[in-house]
Amino acid sequence: MPKLELTYKELPPCDVLVAGGGSAGVSAAVSAGRSGAKTVLIEKSTFLGGMATGALVTPMMKNALDAKNILTKGLFLEACERLVKAGGGATFKDGNPGWFNPEIYKWVLDEMCIEAGVKLMFENHLVSAEIINKEIKKVFFINKSGCFSICAKEFIDCTGDADLVTLSGISYESGKDNARQAMSLRFMMSNIDLRTFAKWLQENDKSGDSPVYFLDNGDILLSSAYTFEKDWTLKSFFEAALKNKDLKKEDAAYFQIFSVPGSPGLIAFNCPRLTPENKTLDPLNNEDTSWVLVQGRQMIKRISAFCKKYLPGFSSSYVCQIAPNIGVRESRRLIGQYVLTANDVLNGKKFEDSVANSNWPIDIHPSNINEKGQLRHPPKDDYYQIPLRSLLPKENEIKNLIVAGRCLSATFEAQGSARIQANCWAMGEAAGLLASKRIKEPVTKS
Ligand SMILES: Cc1cc2nc3c(=O)[nH]c(=O)nc-3n(C[C@H](O)[C@H](O)[C@H](O)COP(=O)(O)OP(=O)(O)OC[C@H]3O[C@@H](n4cnc5c(N)ncnc54)[C@H](O)[C@@H]3O)c2cc1C
Repeated sequence: MPKLELTYKELPPCDVLVAGGGSAGVSAAVSAGRSGAKTVLIEKSTFLGGMATGALVTPMMKNALDAKNILTKGLFLEACERLVKAGGGATFKDGNPGWFNPEIYKWVLDEMCIEAGVKLMFENHLVSAEIINKEIKKVFFINKSGCFSICAKEFIDCTGDADLVTLSGISYESGKDNARQAMSLRFMMSNIDLRTFAKWLQENDKSGDSPVYFLDNGDILLSSAYTFEKDWTLKSFFEAALKNKDLKKEDAAYFQIFSVPGSPGLIAFNCPRLTPENKTLDPLNNEDTSWVLVQGRQMIKRISAFCKKYLPGFSSSYVCQIAPNIGVRESRRLIGQYVLTANDVLNGKKFEDSVANSNWPIDIHPSNINEKGQLRHPPKDDYYQIPLRSLLPKENEIKNLIVAGRCLSATFEAQGSARIQANCWAMGEAAGLLASKRIKEPVTKS
């Protein structure tokens, strides 16, 4: 029987080790790198961006009080500006700068990291950590050529699933009782006559659920949606398709689409959403995620055929991409020095150690088709903040670990708001800055 030999090698040490290269991880690595820290980013996929690219989560949701008062600036805005320059970004008419093409985003993120001096290590899966005296000394990861370790002074967990938190044996939680956020398997269709579809939406959208924006460069930005809960503009198509059995109930339960800047004829789908009646799916259970992938692709087969048959401008369209990764809205969350709560979000709570401002609502997608979702907003014209303490393990736990992104220390409900990409960028930026500061002043570690 041939044996798979795994070699082991210790790689040169670095100052800051970032695990996971999604929005938070890229931001953390770039800010640490720009502050002069020797930074390594370990990513299990073949590209950066995490959910934004691998799960096709485009566009980024608006995080602003109004068109002029954007709540996230810094590296987030820089990434948006770079996307525009690269021909894959645009600002919507409501002032949201976060419309983007996920493929172009991949090289924009590479460039930001490389320019900041970050060493990128793709196709590396973080699998273990060595802890001595409440400090992480090194992490272990595997790739096709073997098992490797790297020592670092500071570690930032941006895996979305709090993998490094878990490997370090510190406190976390996942879901809430039996409740989970639904997973989705997103996809894109191409060769759509976007002008025809946009005109149809403009003529038929009475409730403002399908905004359309014609840009000077010829791009058309638009979005539309359908659920069972209200009279959406697309309702008659869904009713007909359900009656004709072209769609199943679960295909029609949640449908949302967005066009993509710099990509004429392309539509990105924020669906299908996997919400079985008889079980609660766990994004960390491999049997469940394998089921999601197979069922999700069957749903995409039906939804894309529905679009081709029923929607104006879609007759020559085709599926051009199914997300390589499942869209996971929440999994493990650190229980850190401060646990952000629903009340903090809903009351617009401010903190002295704030790292992010947000007015995105608590946005819970139920994991069961028979349950209703939640959309609960912070006070009008106000916002809440995420404190740095929500990125830090409890004081008696690991000293040189920071967490950023959707696995922050927040309740299930508060995470349903804090998880948007703009916030992940802001958390990552603060985490990278803190890590490089602690390297320069190790005695004042918080
Ligand atoms: C279906 C869906 C719709 C959404 N809609 C929106 C939206 O419209 N607008 C918006 O702004 N946000 C939206 N979100 C939320 C947002 O996209 C995510 O919360 C955010 O992108 C998370 O960023 P992150 O960096 O924290 O984590 P991720 O993007 O998940 O990045 C984690 C990274 O870590 C890597 N990784 C994980 N484990 C390991 C390991 N052990 N070793 C090495 N690498 C590892 C992963 O490959 C990944 O690259 C949506 C999310 C989903 C799933």
